[in-house]
Amino acid sequence: MNKMNAEEIYKRAIQEKGVEHQRRIAIEEMAELTNALMKFDRGRTTVDDIIEEIADVTIMMQQLAIIYGKNAVALQIEYKTQRLKRRLDEHNAD
Ligand SMILES: [Mg+2]
Repeated sequence: MNKMNAEEIYKRAIQEKGVEHQRRIAIEEMAELTNALMKFDRGRTTVDDIIEEIADVTIMMQQLAIIYGKNAVALQIEYKTQRLKRRLDEHNAD
């Protein structure tokens, strides 16, 4: 089997399983991460559980970015990260 990089694998998953299916899996994985975080407060999940769910969500977010526009998502991430920095700087200037 030839070695594929992560983006190639995600594109293949979207192509073979379909946009609707991958969108539904993304929603399911986000729910699983939400559950893991909620249960952590009550001692019913471990850090390892949360790490696994973060990985699942990250993989699905990469696929959603490919579906809806990877470059536009990257621009929004850059914009929002810089906005966060400005807000932190403003807060610390008080
Ligand atoms: Mg999961």
